[in-house]
Amino acid sequence: MGYDIERFVDEIDEELKCPVCCGVLEDPVQGRKCEHAFCRKCIVEWVRTSETCPVDRCVLQLSHLQTIPRIIRNLLNHLRVRCDFVLSGCQEVLKLEDLLNHREVCKFNPEYPVPCPKDCGALVPKNKMDRHDCVRELRLLLCNQQKEINELKNSITSLISIAEEQRQNSAANQESLSSLIDKYDHLTMSIQNLEKPIKEVLMIASRNSKAADTENAVNNHIKTALIQEATTEIYISNVDRGVTPPGLKDYLFRHDINPLSCKEALRRGWKNDFRVVIFKSDVNKILQSNLWPRGICCFVCGEYYTTKTEGSRDPEEGGTLNNLKACMPPWMAA
Ligand SMILES: [Zn+2]
Ligand SMILES: [Zn+2]
Ligand SMILES: [Zn+2]
Ligand SMILES: [Zn+2]
Repeated sequence: MGYDIERFVDEIDEELKCPVCCGVLEDPVQGRKCEHAFCRKCIVEWVRTSETCPVDRCVLQLSHLQTIPRIIRNLLNHLRVRCDFVLSGCQEVLKLEDLLNHREVCKFNPEYPVPCPKDCGALVPKNKMDRHDCVRELRLLLCNQQKEINELKNSITSLISIAEEQRQNSAANQESLSSLIDKYDHLTMSIQNLEKPIKEVLMIASRNSKAADTENAVNNHIKTALIQEATTEIYISNVDRGVTPPGLKDYLFRHDINPLSCKEALRRGWKNDFRVVIFKSDVNKILQSNLWPRGICCFVCGEYYTTKTEGSRDPEEGGTLNNLKACMPPWMAA
C-alpha cells in the first residue's frame, strides 16, 4: 500500500501516485512494456487475479515487473512527508528517504522503549506497558543473571585450578632453585676454604722451584766449569773412511781411555778426521805414538806443533770396527 497523500506537504505529481491504491508509490516497480508504475505490493496482489495492466489492460505478468528509472526514485526520495506518528503528536516533517530511520527513534512510536513507571528498572515498549509485569520481568532478569553468574563461577573455578597448578609448579621450581643455591653456596665455601691452602702450596712450590732452578743452574754452571777445567779436545787425523765415531770410541775404551764424546770432524776424500773429548788425565795415554797405527796423526786441538803424535804401530789384522787402521792416501796406494 502506498503512502497516504494527506501526509505530504507538497503537491504530488500524478506520475508518483499508484493507480491501484491512489497513494504515493511505496517500493515501486513498473511494467516492462507500458512502463506504468505501481507499489510492489499493490501490483503483485492485482496480477494474482488479472494478468493485465490496471491502466491500459495490456498483458502484465509478475515476470514483466522491473525497477523504476532512477529519476523517479530520486523524485520520490525527496518528497517531504509527515511522521507516521503525527496523530500521536509528532510534528516532524522529513524526506521520504529518511522516514524509516526516523521511525526507529521517534518518541511517539508506540514501540519506542521507555522505563517502567513502577521503577522496576525495565525498558518496555510503550504499547506493551499495559501487559508489563514487573515481578515476571525481574524474575526473568534474575534467571538470566543467575545463568551468567554460574558461567562466571565455572570459569573462575577453572582459572583457580590453573593458578593452583602453576603455583605448585613454581613451588617445585623454587625448591629446586633453592637446593641449587644451597649447593652453590656450599661449593663457594669449599672454594674459599681451599683458596688459602692452595695459595700456600703455590707459594711454597714457587719458592721451591726458584730454589731448585737456582740450584740446578749453579750445579750446571759448576759442572760445565769443572768439565771444561778437567777435559780437553783431541784431534785425530787420517783415519780410514770405514771407521765410525762408535768404532773409534770402542778402540779408545779398549786402550783404557774414557772419551766423553767422539764426533766426526772432517769426512772428505780419502780420509776421516775425529774430534774426541777426554779427561786431561788421559792426555798422555792418547798421545803415545804406539797407540795409533802408522799414518794416523793425533794432537791436542789448537796445539798441532807442540803435541803432535805420529802413529808408529803396525795395523792390526781384521776389520775396521774393532781394529783401527789408518787410511791409505792415494799416492801411497799407488
Ligand atoms: Zn499502491
Ligand atoms: Zn500499463
Ligand atoms: Zn515522529
Ligand atoms: Zn515494571
